[in-house]
Amino acid sequence: MKRLLALAVLLTIGALSITVAAHQPPAAQPAGPRVIDIEKLRDNLYVLTSSSPADRATFSGGNVAVFITDGGVTLVDTKLTGWGQAILDKLKTVTDKPVTRIINTHTHGDHTGNDNFFGTSVEIVAQDNTKANMEKMDAFKGDNAKFLPKKTYKDKLTLGSGKDRIDLYYFGAGHTNGDTFVVFPALRVLHTGDMLAWKDAPFCDLTNGGSCVALPRTLQKVIAGIKDVDTVIPGHSPMMTPKDLQMFQRFTADLLSHSIDAMKVAKSVDDATASFKVDKYPAYKNERVKAAIQAVYDELKK
Ligand SMILES: [Zn+2]
Repeated sequence: MKRLLALAVLLTIGALSITVAAHQPPAAQPAGPRVIDIEKLRDNLYVLTSSSPADRATFSGGNVAVFITDGGVTLVDTKLTGWGQAILDKLKTVTDKPVTRIINTHTHGDHTGNDNFFGTSVEIVAQDNTKANMEKMDAFKGDNAKFLPKKTYKDKLTLGSGKDRIDLYYFGAGHTNGDTFVVFPALRVLHTGDMLAWKDAPFCDLTNGGSCVALPRTLQKVIAGIKDVDTVIPGHSPMMTPKDLQMFQRFTADLLSHSIDAMKVAKSVDDATASFKVDKYPAYKNERVKAAIQAVYDELKK
């Protein structure tokens, strides 16, 4: 009976993971050891990687930035629930300072999953809409409501000063309606969250206010508004550059106009997908193109 129940749960989770996008994975954890890799970007900035959703066995959640200052460690995002100890173990290899601040780029569970792991004295920061989205998540209900962001902002927020300064920006809807861009000005590094996750079509989470129609415009504002950056930490891929961000913006604008044109002549989503070519974007995949075109269709049909 127990075995049947477990099987039913597994099947349900399997079905869910097909319909729910890759970055909202089920709570199930990989059976193997939880290994997180660490990459050094600067003397006081690291990234906890192992974040490709393509390999479910090793997927730990989104890329986590680790910013080390005299006052403590700031984390940008916290990966999937269950990976808190693995994060902490990896942190200990580069610093003995405590985590004092968490910035959540957006609401998804693979970016907020261990907000509750580092204790209640940690300052949690997010954009206003992301806090509202987090309030709807089971993970932040009841006793866990105390781990909701206490510091929020609307358009821009600066934390710290001098070499410790962190700038947070919100430019509009895209992946969700509350995506923060995190800049470390002294280090010329930008963390994009899932507004730039991979070299493929974006995932626009319409249930959390995301918009594939707004996304290219929002990214244009990012490119115009954030200068003086050399390194880009994407939500889920190896490190990128501002040029990659610019290419992704062009890709999303291209995909949007292609979708609108296809809608105008009453093409099906399948036909629109088949006629969208990713070849002119080096290293791009088309695994997520259909879902993104579907999102545009759904948005514009409203
Ligand atoms: Zn996400």
